[in-house]
Amino acid sequence: MDQPGPQRTVRVLVDGLGDRVFDYALPKGIEVQRGCRVEVPLRSRRATGTVMELPEAGKCDLPDVALKPIIRVLEGDSEVSKELMDLAEWAARYYAAPVEQMLRCIVPEPVRSENHDPKTRKVVRLTRRPSEDEFNRMKARAPRQAAIIQTLMASENGCEALSALGRGGALPSCRLLEKRGYVRLELETVHRDPAGREDFAPTQPLTLNEEQKMALGCVLEALEDDDRKPILLQGVTGSGKTEVYLQAAAEVISRGRGVLILVPEISLTPQTMSRFKSRFANSPGMVAILHSAMSDGERYDEWHSIRRGRARIVIGPRSALFAPVANLGLIIVDEEHDSSYKQESAPRYHGRDLAVLRAHMEGAAIVLGSATPSLESIHNAMLGKYKLVRMDHRADGQRLPLTRVLDMRSEAKDKRFMGLVSERLKNAIEQRLRRGEQSILLLNRRGFARALQCPDCGYVATCEHCSLPLTYHITENRLICHICGYHAVVPMECPKCRSRAIQLQGSGTQKIEELLKRFFPEARIQRIDADVTARKNALRDIMEAFRAHRIDILLGTQMISKGLDFPRVTLVGVLNADLGLCIPDPRAAERTFQLLTQVAGRAGRGNVEGEVIIQTYTPQAAAIQYARRHDTDGFAKNELELRERFAFPPFCHMAVLTVRSEKEDLADFAIKTLYKRLQPVLPRGTEISAPLPAPIAKAYGQYRYQCVLKAPRARVFSEVVAKQISLLSPGENVTVTLDVDAYSFM
Ligand code: ADP
Ligand code: ZN
Ligand code: ZN
Repeated sequence: MDQPGPQRTVRVLVDGLGDRVFDYALPKGIEVQRGCRVEVPLRSRRATGTVMELPEAGKCDLPDVALKPIIRVLEGDSEVSKELMDLAEWAARYYAAPVEQMLRCIVPEPVRSENHDPKTRKVVRLTRRPSEDEFNRMKARAPRQAAIIQTLMASENGCEALSALGRGGALPSCRLLEKRGYVRLELETVHRDPAGREDFAPTQPLTLNEEQKMALGCVLEALEDDDRKPILLQGVTGSGKTEVYLQAAAEVISRGRGVLILVPEISLTPQTMSRFKSRFANSPGMVAILHSAMSDGERYDEWHSIRRGRARIVIGPRSALFAPVANLGLIIVDEEHDSSYKQESAPRYHGRDLAVLRAHMEGAAIVLGSATPSLESIHNAMLGKYKLVRMDHRADGQRLPLTRVLDMRSEAKDKRFMGLVSERLKNAIEQRLRRGEQSILLLNRRGFARALQCPDCGYVATCEHCSLPLTYHITENRLICHICGYHAVVPMECPKCRSRAIQLQGSGTQKIEELLKRFFPEARIQRIDADVTARKNALRDIMEAFRAHRIDILLGTQMISKGLDFPRVTLVGVLNADLGLCIPDPRAAERTFQLLTQVAGRAGRGNVEGEVIIQTYTPQAAAIQYARRHDTDGFAKNELELRERFAFPPFCHMAVLTVRSEKEDLADFAIKTLYKRLQPVLPRGTEISAPLPAPIAKAYGQYRYQCVLKAPRARVFSEVVAKQISLLSPGENVTVTLDVDAYSFM
């Protein structure tokens, strides 16, 4: 009798159950690997899941238990590669997120479900060529059939869409031809290409200048080098970084490897996408586009097109970093400083940081490009972890626009001043309207935090311990620091200049839009904010309308600063540069500097010179002064000194622990409990601030309480905090989240 071999087992992470794994037997005839998607029995139902491990034969934890066998391997080609499995597990630990949540990013929902609906079309394929005689007879007796045969014989592969063979009437003729054995009618799956409607004319590589050659050389070197470091490409706006990316990508493709390009958001940066589409227009399908507004069907098709290796260049926002590109050779993170790389909902990963890790795991080169790199990346370059490559000159020979910093303290004394748009800026807009040019107005603002600022001298109430703006809390009538918990009373007059006009700052785009409409009743004004962009494709439509000059004035928050490549924009007004500084966030100055520099580098790209007007109450602020001079190095040096002094990132990692609940007392209780339990167990060197209401103390009907954690290394505390969160049973209606390497402290 056959000795039954030791039972083969698999460990499966079942979908939708958090991080619970179950062991199953692997029946004979079914082969799986780590990352395979499988169907398994779960109590009385069936469930799907991902194979996490294949314990060595006979070495299962419970060898004697009769395990239920897995049912089958799911169809649809959706298994996860070994590298992406490792990436998911690493990210899950680091960001204190369930592995299952990370896997959902890697295999997105439309790919997971097997019952998707491929889009098909009827095609007619030539199966037998008629002889000359036959064809002539056909021409005489059935001219329509002959015409169809002729079209098919002339087509590239003897195949045409039914719809292309004559409107309406082709089907009966094709049926007859099919009966006679000349053609076959088939259903063909149509690839849904999100950029399919547009045509792209192929472009030729430009002759690179010296700086570009250097940069390209470094990238190509990194392709070969086993000891490669991430490359930080610091190039001023217009220095030709994109051209370097294009030529590097072409080289990687020619070596049979794949390329991944991350951009802040496609709708905001359509020019990057179209430049890639154009450069590779002669290889249809080579460039796949992923973006947030794609339909499930489009997402499914693009994913599989990448998976099968048809698309070898993938462009998309942060989530595209998980795209199943095989034999990855190069990752490019464009505008690497952009905060949209950080996901603000679970799992709260940072796209740039995970891209660096993925490149390392897959032996790919990685380029982080920006005119204003993040201080994290600059710091890494200084430490020698990244290789710094600079491009300091514009490739297009354009001059930088004139930047004026407008001191609103003197404007505020002007009677005509409306509080938001200065006379100077108003006149500048008027001039643009007369000349038929476009203007962009930016409201630099995040969230709803209210800081206290003096309109007469620009003084902002800040924390003595953190140097960050204090937030006004209406309930206690107090100013509170959200990083360390410092409390202060609200002054009746400005401590610096004794003005009694000291006031709360904060004003919405809607209010400014109304004001602009009053000023310029004839102008076509469009506002962009979260309300407007909630509609699908709204952003893209607005950008298209603006490009086509159906809009004169575009008004929005910093999100529109990314897509500023519009030749007819000759004026950019920053309405209140301070608002970005008046928030309790260690990166406030950095973001303001980046925003202003990006803006200043873009206005007036055509042949008309651009003008930038920055309205501010604090014209002396470092972020504003360095941006006016386009001095990234000066700003970085100054800011890194401050960060080191106050032990802020990149000199530490910060995380925000937040509890949300509709019931205020529950939220309060839960955060206090967590704080009490965490204090004794946190690793040495980790600081935790006492619990406080969040700067946005209530949002979406929920009260929010938070603690801020600070530590030299994030890995150390995220596991400890995650464990405490899981041990807390806070009851219904209370959610606890940990945001590791937080970019928002609101
Ligand atoms: P960046 O990505 O650094 O902002 P771009 O790649 O968009 O810069 O280049 C800015 C402009 O300069 C573009 O219009 C581009 O076509 C042009 N350009 C780039 N490289 C060259 C080159 N080597 N020769 C001529 N023009 C170039
Ligand atoms: Zn004052
Ligand atoms: Zn403080």
